[in-house]
Amino acid sequence: MDDHPVHPPPPESSGLPLLHNLTCSEIESWMVAHGTPPYRARQLWQWLYVHRCRDLARMTNLPATLRNQIADAFVTDPAHITETQGVEGDTRKLLLRLRDGEQVESVLIPAENRRTICVSCQAGCRFRCAFCASGQAGFRRNLEPGEILAQVLSACDLWQQPPTHVVFMGIGEPFDNYDAVLQAVRTLNDQDGFRIGARRITISTCGMVPGIERLAGEGIQVELSVSLHAPNNALRNRLMPVNQRYPMEVLMPACDAYTRQTGRIITFEYTLIHNLNDGPECARELARLLQGRPARVNLIPLSPVAEFPHAPPAPEQAERFAAILTEARINSTLRLSRGCALDAACGQLRYRPL
Ligand code: SF4
Repeated sequence: MDDHPVHPPPPESSGLPLLHNLTCSEIESWMVAHGTPPYRARQLWQWLYVHRCRDLARMTNLPATLRNQIADAFVTDPAHITETQGVEGDTRKLLLRLRDGEQVESVLIPAENRRTICVSCQAGCRFRCAFCASGQAGFRRNLEPGEILAQVLSACDLWQQPPTHVVFMGIGEPFDNYDAVLQAVRTLNDQDGFRIGARRITISTCGMVPGIERLAGEGIQVELSVSLHAPNNALRNRLMPVNQRYPMEVLMPACDAYTRQTGRIITFEYTLIHNLNDGPECARELARLLQGRPARVNLIPLSPVAEFPHAPPAPEQAERFAAILTEARINSTLRLSRGCALDAACGQLRYRPL
């Protein structure tokens, strides 16, 4: 295991805004307001996201006076990696320190022909799902768009190329920080940005219905994944407090409307927990719930978390659950949760408060 500081600690926060928080058109407006031709905005944008350069001194096609103006107005280095766990070529967990000292985790998951990064969108989480480490220490703040992008930039540094896939499944609920997440998604997808196809970007929600409704109207072809984890309200209330606000009879019609409006199939995440939601009756109830709905199910054996004294099912129990869904013609995949040894698997990323 490699466990060491990669970069020096971040500079003291200057109180200036983060350059990576701006959209390209906002940079353009700033340029115009500062007497600079608007085409300079695209040049700067390409330095930030095509060349992934954070050092203004290297942006030599921009006039020195402009670079000085930018340096006086913005912070150009959004976060530093303070710790990495795992070895190159395998799943790695990164700890990133933000300008105000808050720390978030990201996970890099390389596989054949793909490089996936799982990003965090909040420092902490207010939703407190029972099986998830991310919300156990409470909620501190939303991440800014540039702080989400900083995680992807760090992956680019380590991989020396951009990820092929980005999943918003780290710390935080993406629809609880909707605007920042969507702005980051648009930069990831921008042809002059990271150039990551929208279908290779997954937003995962615990079931915040207003976010599902809003995303449906965005006209962006990202993948949507909804964490279900239970086939009925009684069980889901125990596992996910958000269900009391958006119960199944509200959530499922919102998912149906999303699919109708976008033509996109939703993936439902279902964590298998031994003796809690992994029995054949739960599998049959889940099959009935999804019958006739164009949906995929990801079955993920529980990744252990200290605060949740439960275990994953035995492999044959998980296979039996999957087989019941298959018999009912529900499209499901039994996944291996990667990164358990690093506490980097689903639900294991942990917010470490200041
Ligand atoms: S599963 Fe998602 S929404 Fe639930 S506590 Fe964890 S990070 Fe928050």
